[in-house]
Amino acid sequence: MSYRIGSGVDFHKLAEGRDLWLGGVKIPHHKGAFGHSDADVLLHAICDALLGALSLGDIGVHFPDTDASFKNIDSKILLKRTFDLVKKEGYSVVNIDTTICLEFPKIKPYVGAMLKEIAAILEITEKDISIKATTTEKMGFAGREEGLMAYATVLLFRQDN
Ligand SMILES: [Zn+2]
Repeated sequence: MSYRIGSGVDFHKLAEGRDLWLGGVKIPHHKGAFGHSDADVLLHAICDALLGALSLGDIGVHFPDTDASFKNIDSKILLKRTFDLVKKEGYSVVNIDTTICLEFPKIKPYVGAMLKEIAAILEITEKDISIKATTTEKMGFAGREEGLMAYATVLLFRQDN
């Protein structure tokens, strides 16, 4: 049996007139995350953790923001494609632990929907995923609502014959 651990972190600016996508779910808010894709900071951190676990580079290598085909792309598609790379190596996900850092809005009402989306893509149960949230006590860019960030840790498993 082989186990691999990976970590990922992602940051995005918050801007007026953008949608706020987090964990594959659209959250009503007056600001949204700015980026080339839908700027889903949580899914991007999970992608990087999956890639990191298998030393496959990072999300920028696989889905470059210079590629017009990724403009405004649904990050669930990026997560699905990343998981395809994981499966190609013979691995499956054991569990994922994440933290989102943002001042507003409160994400608790949306965590259930996020778990459902992520579990379906990664072929695990909602119990295998943890989504935590914290503010930065009004300090720094997250505290000033200029941006948000997410951290993810994943454990992968492969049955060796
Ligand atoms: Zn990102």
